[in-house]
Amino acid sequence: MKLVYVNGNLVPAEEASVSVFDHGFLYGDGVFEGIRVYNGRIFKLDEHLERLYDSAHVIMLRIPLSKEEMRRAVIDTVRANGIRDGYIRLVVSRGPGDLGLDPRKCSKPTVVIIADTIQLYPEELYEKGLKVVTVPTRRNIPEALNPRIKSLNYLNNILAKIEANNFGDVVHEAIMLDVNGYVVECTGDNIFIVDNGILITPPTYIGALEGITRNTVIELAKEMGVRVEESLLTRYNLYVADECFLTGTAAEVVPVAEVDGRKIGNEVPGKITSELMKRFREKTMTEGVPVYEGG
Ligand code: PMP
Repeated sequence: MKLVYVNGNLVPAEEASVSVFDHGFLYGDGVFEGIRVYNGRIFKLDEHLERLYDSAHVIMLRIPLSKEEMRRAVIDTVRANGIRDGYIRLVVSRGPGDLGLDPRKCSKPTVVIIADTIQLYPEELYEKGLKVVTVPTRRNIPEALNPRIKSLNYLNNILAKIEANNFGDVVHEAIMLDVNGYVVECTGDNIFIVDNGILITPPTYIGALEGITRNTVIELAKEMGVRVEESLLTRYNLYVADECFLTGTAAEVVPVAEVDGRKIGNEVPGKITSELMKRFREKTMTEGVPVYEGG
């Protein structure tokens, strides 16, 4: 039986529910994390918890559990579901209030932990690469809603996803630009290019989430002796790149074959992308917080 953690209790999935007055539902007022479980270990759990608590701090939402208690709750939920390879969705919302948006009316934040499985893209796309397009909807400007806050407000990304979907099944993801036309990220992934042996990704200050997978890939590239830069990229930079790939907890490291109809590089996945994919897989298999006795 699938069990979901709701405010301290593990309840059967069909019975897991939150109030319709929850401001997470009414206003998207809350924060969340998506976390992977590989080989019975929770990958980068502490990094995800750190980001969750940072997001909550920025929106002045007091999570009713200490980081250590939350860590325990996540491990317990994964174990209760017997998951060895899967995906965790951790949500903390402002909690139930009245119909006004004032968060002071919400006295008890809601905590939900779902442990399930996920496959974002079919395996063949990790060999052939994704086709992605840039879309008209721009990434939220940091001065309005900072995308570094991993909030329940995903409408910006969803609008971009719909624009990519409008191309039909031939397009797999949307690249979002900022108001000045610089490349920021995809709807649920960060973006990287390789140009003349240098790995480049947009800086977070223009409105990209500081992805945990992004950070892991930067670390791996440095271990490989590859120079890494965080700098502004235009669509032109993507079109003429030698390699391009996306990173995300759900997507992992996935190569990009085509951007706006332009083929990227000579081979997909490119050399550096392939090596990063390999090293990333190895890392996920060997690192992480063990859920079960004996690892
Ligand atoms: N950007 C956005 C908008 C996302 O939603 C995600 C997924 N959390 C990412 C990037 C990738 O971040 P991470 O590697 O931490 O999953």
